[in-house]
Amino acid sequence: MCPECLQSIPGEVVATRGGVVMRKACPQHGDFECAVSSDLAAYERMRRSPRIVQSPAQPAVPEAKGCPDDCGLCPAHDQHTCLAIVEITSRCNLPCPVCLADSTTQGRDLTVAQVVSALEKLRRAEGAATPLQFAGGEPTLHSDLLEIVRAASRLGYRKLEIDSNGLLLASRPSLANDLRQAGLTGVYLQMDTVDPGASTYIRGRDLLSHKLRAIDHCKSAGLQVVLSVTVVPGVNDDRLWDMIRFAAARRLTGVNFQSVVLSGRYPPALAKSGERFTAGHFMRAIERQSEGRLRAGDLMPMSCPDPRCGLFAYVVVKRDGELVPINRLLGEDALRRHVADFSDWETLLGQIGCSASGCSCNSSDADPRAKLADLLEGAECFSIGFHGMMDAYSFDLERARRCCVHKLTSEGKLMPFCLYNMKYRPQEVNEEKMGSE
Ligand SMILES: [Zn+2]
Repeated sequence: MCPECLQSIPGEVVATRGGVVMRKACPQHGDFECAVSSDLAAYERMRRSPRIVQSPAQPAVPEAKGCPDDCGLCPAHDQHTCLAIVEITSRCNLPCPVCLADSTTQGRDLTVAQVVSALEKLRRAEGAATPLQFAGGEPTLHSDLLEIVRAASRLGYRKLEIDSNGLLLASRPSLANDLRQAGLTGVYLQMDTVDPGASTYIRGRDLLSHKLRAIDHCKSAGLQVVLSVTVVPGVNDDRLWDMIRFAAARRLTGVNFQSVVLSGRYPPALAKSGERFTAGHFMRAIERQSEGRLRAGDLMPMSCPDPRCGLFAYVVVKRDGELVPINRLLGEDALRRHVADFSDWETLLGQIGCSASGCSCNSSDADPRAKLADLLEGAECFSIGFHGMMDAYSFDLERARRCCVHKLTSEGKLMPFCLYNMKYRPQEVNEEKMGSE
């Protein structure tokens, strides 16, 4: 994709001395080069990693102009929806310098009827109720949020989370409880750092006390909390392990890191520098910062979208706070199979057997499972993820076709989230502005 005119153009992914880059040329706007990975071996490991493919039950739009111009999804799309993101409002209460959605205090809300209609279409397209994320803008600003969550529950959606900055969850102690009662299961809490300077760079101000209160309220209400960390090179990429320790110490469900992209609003200096934070950077950073407690090899490529799009690790948090990656106990293949239909930790831990690497018992010993159970007693499970988001500079159609994280529009169309951000959201925002003039 040409980052200037957003037209499809041919591109090449090339190994260089420093890693992997994408090169492409637009007949009108010239040549572009963008880092894809800082590490050729890591890129190849991800590219060759096995995929689990499941097509959408019912494509919503016909293919006419070809990918990515008919998105909605069209029959050329190669993966069903694992997570649908519904942006119920474009309004936000925090003017972050970094914002994918370019949200401001002004904007519009979807009506409950619009959300219900889109969710009904999603269920038909998918043939089942997928996990949902209500996002924005800031979804807690929507005055009908509770009604929307209740309506989604009534339609059979069981995994329901909001993607929130946590400000209202912090200031209104009853909100988390009300959301849990309505059927919400989790909060994807946006939190990039514990450092005031880094927070000011990315979010405009220090927010630590708000995040801590929001976490307390969500935990008391029985909501799962996953931290969502936007990684900005040179700003917070040197403190990623701190975020993992912060979340594990508070017994949160996990941390998900995503690279900052040049979509929506971003610091101009970032665009100029051409700096990128790729999966290769992530692997090296985690291994170095954790002093080898979590190694690059413990981070497994995702099997469901394109494996180049994401990495994950499941770890056990032992009672003394030590983190033990589960793949060392269970083996990668077994873990991958299980993750395809990931349901609960009990099942996962039940599969950990003596033959797995990392178990030091020998067969003449008493029940090896008992030994492992002893090791894991009082332990909790925790997930670590990395999502290598794409923008118009790094866009790769092959990856987008395999995407399973889809934006659900108010008309019930589904689009790969990255593609929506770079190509379709700006159109929608412009139409909105024209409509209000
Ligand atoms: Zn162009």
